[in-house]
Amino acid sequence: MKSDIDGITGLFSKDDACKRVAGIRFASLGSGSKGNGTVVVGGETTVLIDCGFNTKQVVMRLGRLGIDPTNLAAILVTHEHADHVGGVAQLAHRYDIPVYGSYGTHKGLFSRDLDGSLARPFVASDSFSIGDIRIHPVPVPHDAREPTQYIIENRHSLACFGILTDIGHLTPHVVKMYKRCHGLLVEGNHDLQMLMGGKYPAQLKQRISSNLGHLSNAQASSFLGEVLHDKLDHVVVGHISEQNNDPQRLHEAFGRFESTIADFQYATQAKGHGWVEISPSLGANSVTV
Ligand SMILES: [Zn+2]
Ligand SMILES: [Zn+2]
Repeated sequence: MKSDIDGITGLFSKDDACKRVAGIRFASLGSGSKGNGTVVVGGETTVLIDCGFNTKQVVMRLGRLGIDPTNLAAILVTHEHADHVGGVAQLAHRYDIPVYGSYGTHKGLFSRDLDGSLARPFVASDSFSIGDIRIHPVPVPHDAREPTQYIIENRHSLACFGILTDIGHLTPHVVKMYKRCHGLLVEGNHDLQMLMGGKYPAQLKQRISSNLGHLSNAQASSFLGEVLHDKLDHVVVGHISEQNNDPQRLHEAFGRFESTIADFQYATQAKGHGWVEISPSLGANSVTV
């Protein structure tokens, strides 16, 4: 099944959105500093990574993709910043969904907001499984308590998806881990010149561009160059700043990938992006870490 690239509606009806997925399927509910959420399906297991939208918004956005909140086996949280967790506790309580995140992330937010019976803290270096998917948390440098991004595999086919946003700089461990992915949602947050010449206060500019801030277009492009392999078929650039980036700068930074990666697209704050389908055959020769 080909990917839906218009980002408005999924290709899947409510009935087939959560049917057994032999590879991995992913879609964004919205991506950027005003709210994030990414749905990932492998086998018969559906999870939501982050929820920066209120329950009404997230239910509407899930519905656009043919997903009912009762289908969610878990919410995986990357870190405690509001654009990632603003709606987590509300959604979890309403639909009784367990919430996974590092111990530091839980301490940063959930000890306050989340019913303890739904909290599933993990050790950031340990992989774990939920249903048909295997989850590898990846610690990243960002100004939160214990942020982790995620690599998610279908346990049966080893088709592999990675999300990497809210990271101030690339570490050797991060590059090594993401080399195995067949599909990526990676942050291209800002153009450094636009950020520095823009209207943000000096302190905020410093925070965003620091080693604990966000990836610039140039950093993200260099990351893609490092992890690229012939089975990386799907790349979405997300968490794009609405103030400090624009289509021209993105094209300048990522143009070489737009023409060489089979499915290359940009996620938006309002609509995220539609379903992307990672074929099970891409995972055929992968090695589990
Ligand atoms: Zn963020
Ligand atoms: Zn953040």
